[in-house]
Formats: sequence, structure tokens, C-alpha cells
Amino acid sequence: MKGAIHSLAGVALSLALVSTASAQTLSRPTACSTCIGNWYYFDEVATGAAGDWNCGGSSYDGHHGSDFSLIGNNGAIDTGYDIVATAAGTVVAAEDGHFDHCTACGGAGCGSSVGSGYGNHVVINEGSYKVIYGHMRTGSVRVAVGDTVSCGQVIGQIGSSGCTTGAHLHVETRPVGGAYASAFDPFQGGCSPTSPSLWTGQGPYRGLPDATCGAPPPPTCPSGTYAIWTCNAAATERTRCLSGVVSTEACSAGCISMPSGTDDVCATPPPPDCGSLSATYTCTADASARERCSSGMIETDACAAGCVASASGDASCATPPDCGSLAATYACAGDGLSRARCVSGTVEVDDCPAGCVVTAAGEDDLCRAVPDGGVQDASAPDASGPDASAPDASGPDASGGDASAARDADVDGGGSVVMKGGCSCDLAHSAGSKPRLPLLALPFFVLVAFRFRRHPR
Ligand SMILES: [Zn+2]
Repeated sequence: MKGAIHSLAGVALSLALVSTASAQTLSRPTACSTCIGNWYYFDEVATGAAGDWNCGGSSYDGHHGSDFSLIGNNGAIDTGYDIVATAAGTVVAAEDGHFDHCTACGGAGCGSSVGSGYGNHVVINEGSYKVIYGHMRTGSVRVAVGDTVSCGQVIGQIGSSGCTTGAHLHVETRPVGGAYASAFDPFQGGCSPTSPSLWTGQGPYRGLPDATCGAPPPPTCPSGTYAIWTCNAAATERTRCLSGVVSTEACSAGCISMPSGTDDVCATPPPPDCGSLSATYTCTADASARERCSSGMIETDACAAGCVASASGDASCATPPDCGSLAATYACAGDGLSRARCVSGTVEVDDCPAGCVVTAAGEDDLCRAVPDGGVQDASAPDASGPDASAPDASGPDASGGDASAARDADVDGGGSVVMKGGCSCDLAHSAGSKPRLPLLALPFFVLVAFRFRRHPR
């Protein structure tokens, strides 16, 4: 008894060699190893007669699949014999619900119009080919379109649905996208164009193939991808494919095409931008500088005297302290007890406990020497000191009274400068050309005197 008859017209096949060298190999399509009792192979004879891959007659005219007939025929269907995927793949068609005890290709619920003649069936894309599993038992289909299946996974059970005369599994291999006419024999033999066998182990003639899953085929890369990095048309990224794995890198600064056979490269991006800096100056965290972003570059101003933030505009560098109107030469303070000068923007102050003596313009005013061995006592001048006596009216400059005479001025008990000639001077500078320290500057000196280094006497 023939296990199955397809009404679909067979198309003559030449014996052109079918290469399956890179294809994923097939494992036994049945879960059982002893439930199959008959075989009807792919018809390798072009016209008029039937012949199988082994040059035998175990086929029938125009058959485009391999039939594995169930021992016990339709009476064994309800026992439930599992069909398994011959390789890993993706389900591309699945159909169930048709009558599954057909005994002829035709009649109620049977025939070539039922599931395209395959009745209840599943089609799995298994790599470089697809496999049709036909004539399944009603309600046994276990997978749906889009499912990924593994090799050996149960997908349904053997039945007799569609165009068939009895219980069997029809296995049909086609190229992906190929029609019925393009189906090919998975068995290798003297009368088959297929080499090598599509089965991992095709087993003996009229026996079951090995239940051995094949290694997945080496992954292939999509067309238009290469093993070397290649810019896309917009030059915004580059792509390569290694062992079927596509990698893409964005090229923010553009992609540069290199000579053939060489990796294309991403252009070097511009220097880092200013981050969160704005175009307005802001103080650095330690207030030692201010910085802003200008044309993508950070501009920094050092602020030696600190940075002053602004709520509405640029932060500014604090003005460093200066000496005000102080000159580089010492000038006596208003109280005559110290002198000060400006050195590199810094006020230097000397205490003049014995009094300060104003000199000529452009020259340092002088601290009067403290009497040897004496203790300066403003309220009780040391009478023994050389200058303790009353102002010397007989001095050589007694008649002059100009500023230079102040070099010899004595200090009276109150600390005021007493000019030669008996003038108890108010310290107004008689020379007129040399500015005196304004009295307003006095508190400033009092402050800085505690902050700046005092000069050794
Ligand atoms: Zn068949």
C-alpha cells in the first residue's frame, strides 16, 4: 500500500547536483525509532515510473517528499506518535483541525484542497531550506507561526490528514522561498543528485535516519556587509559583519572612507566642549579664577585676589589691595609715630616710637633713634638722653626752619616733632612737595600694622 499520494502535479527534475555542503543537517523526524514500517522516497525518475535515491522502487511517480509510514496505519494514530523538528528553525506555517483518518486523496475532509494536500501540517525554516511536515494528527500541532524551535522539539503527531491513503509522516525539503517544484531529495545515493546527504546520518535504506542533531551552519552576513569596517552612505556610521554578527559604530564627526580592503574610520571628534559652562564668566569652585565658554573652548582668568560672582552677568576678579596714595619712599604717619611706604602694592609700616622725622621730597622719612639705654616714655622723657634737653635753639639750622632741618628735630615729651628754632610743629610738611599721609589713612595703618611684617629697627 502506498503511504501517500499527492495530487499536485510533479515536475520533472534533472539530476543537477544539489549542494548541501553548508546546510544545517537533519535529524530523525520521528520521536520513535521502531514505529515506522514503510518508506516512500522522493521520486528521482523524471517521467513515467518511480525510483528512489538508492535506485530502488520505494517511491511513487511524482512524489516530492519522503514518507515514513506508521506501523498499524490509521489504527495507530490515536496512540499518538510524536513528530520532531529535524533541525532548529522558525515556524513559517502551521495548520491544524482537519480530519486525520483519511484513506484516500479525496472524499469528505480529505484531498488536495485540505491544507494544500498536506492536511494538518507545519513548515519550518531551518536555515538554507525549509521543511514541510505533512498529514498530522488532528489537534496535535504544537507550534505556531513565528515560533523558534530547536532540533528534536515535538511539533505534532503522525496522522492521515489531507491527500493521503493512510497514516504516515511526509517530510519535504525545499529551498527557502522555493515552491513545490523546487523540492529536493534529502537522501544521498546512486540515483540522487544530493551530495552530501542532508541528514546528519541518513541511516540504512528503508530505515530511519539517525536521531542526531547537526551543528548549526556557520552564520552568514547580510548582503551589503563586509568583514572590514565600511561607512554608510550618509557617513554617519560604519558597519562590519564578522561570523554573521553585524556591528555598527556611530561616527559623530563623520565617517572617512579608506582605500579598498582597509577599514573605514570614524573622524576624530572635535575637542571636548565646555560641558555646563556658559558664555558668561562664572567663578571656579575655589574662587581662584573665573571661566567661560567661548566657541567651544574654555577661557580662564586667574583671580589672584579671588573671584566675585555676579547674579546677572560676568563674575569678576576682585581688585587686589594697593597702597592708595602711598609712595615708594617712607612717609611719616599723621601722628608722627610710624612711617609707611608702598612696596609692590603692599604697605610696609615701621613704628617710630621715638618719632618720625620728615625729610625732603623723594627721600625716606626717618624714624628717630631711640635714646641709648633709655626707655621710651612719652610722659617722662629721659633727661639723661642726648636729645632730652630742651630744643637747641643754637643749632645751625635754627634760622632756616625748612623741612631739611627736621632731620635734627628733637622729640618732646608728647612725641611731637619739635623743629629747630623752637617750632613745636604740627607736622604739616613745610616742604610742600611731599604729601603727608592723610589722617584718614591712620586706621588703615593701624590695621595693616598687625598684618604686615615689621622691619627690623
Ligand atoms: Zn509524501
